[in-house]
Amino acid sequence: MIRKTRLFTPGPTPLLPAAQFAMAAADIHHRTPEFRALYQKVLAQLKVFVGTKNDVLLLSSSGTGAMEASVSNLTSPGDRVLVLTAGKFGERWVALTKAFGCEVDVVEAPYGQTFDLEVVRKALKPEHRALFVQGTETSTAVRHDVQAIAKLRDAVAPETLLVVDGITGLGTTHFDVDGWGIDVLIGGSQKAVMIPPGLAYLSVSDKAWAAMEKSKNPRYYFDLRKERKNAAKGESAYTPAVALIAGLGAALDYIAGQAGGDLEKGRIALVNNAQVNAAATRAGLVALGFTLFAPTAPAAAATAVAVPEGMDSSEVVKALKTRFASVIANGQGEMKGKIFRVAHLGFFDYLDTVALLGAMEHIAKDTLKLPVQWGQAVAAAQQVYADAVKG
Ligand SMILES: *Cc1c(COP(=O)(O)O)cnc(C)c1O
Repeated sequence: MIRKTRLFTPGPTPLLPAAQFAMAAADIHHRTPEFRALYQKVLAQLKVFVGTKNDVLLLSSSGTGAMEASVSNLTSPGDRVLVLTAGKFGERWVALTKAFGCEVDVVEAPYGQTFDLEVVRKALKPEHRALFVQGTETSTAVRHDVQAIAKLRDAVAPETLLVVDGITGLGTTHFDVDGWGIDVLIGGSQKAVMIPPGLAYLSVSDKAWAAMEKSKNPRYYFDLRKERKNAAKGESAYTPAVALIAGLGAALDYIAGQAGGDLEKGRIALVNNAQVNAAATRAGLVALGFTLFAPTAPAAAATAVAVPEGMDSSEVVKALKTRFASVIANGQGEMKGKIFRVAHLGFFDYLDTVALLGAMEHIAKDTLKLPVQWGQAVAAAQQVYADAVKG
């Protein structure tokens, strides 16, 4: 039998064909009216996709570049900051803020869980220059309650900047950037927007722009003030990833096209799609005998499940690749071998979910020797889907 390669990973995610065509045709110079028209269109679309009146900037880097930019542009050596961490990407905030000389206070939640808000309330101090958190922690597939954290910030430390890594949160979770007062919200191209890695985007509030005037950490390539000045003219400070920007425009057109051309509605449809697929996947995998790794606060971006005691999740990852040419993600770091992760962010639809669960039935039976009845996982997912479309 032939096998068709499929990505079920939380970044990179499957590519949208229309975006691939736009990238292949992006034979334009970046200091021309053609590029300026494209750039301005994409920046305007991104504002709608992020859902904010704030500036949205694009950077030619992976998501971590925008994480670094938010630290280097908003902090000075010796600033006290608070990091909320519950996984590998939270740990990246800790490492980054330390690398730029911040005094870092940390609130930790165990892998697979989100934060106790009372603990956050006690840890947060008005002198914290900024609070860094993930919208969704991709390494554990946990969703954090950004709205509640923003409310705590308003109550306890209203001057503190709220910086959210929404790299897998955007397009899978609802964020009210302006209503909640998110000062920086970061996204990445290889996640919900269906194009390859290489672009990061971020929204920046007026409060963050004002703070930038006083921050003393060094920055050059990721100088956000310089990017803003150039963006106002329809250009980027340096040679941008032109092809990716063309692909991003096509992807945002596609997302709008899913809701009659209305990008805001399209974004909501994309979030709902991720939520239904995530719920169906959870139901299907639990029906097969797996245990949810993040049962109390599961993300819609991805689902993490633990394999039964004594089994190795690497075997599942390997079997899916060998037999069905499909790629899921192993656990990261010490979670490797214990969990596997299946993504729902971006260009995944319900049929992808059903296909994956069908393959997982074979792997649960043949590789993990679990008692499986054909259709067991798929049936559980079908019920979730049927309930969701009934409304
Ligand atoms: C993918 C991801 C990142 C960014 O990683 P890059 O490899 O730099 O693109 C950051 N945070 C989260 C939560 C992610 O899922």
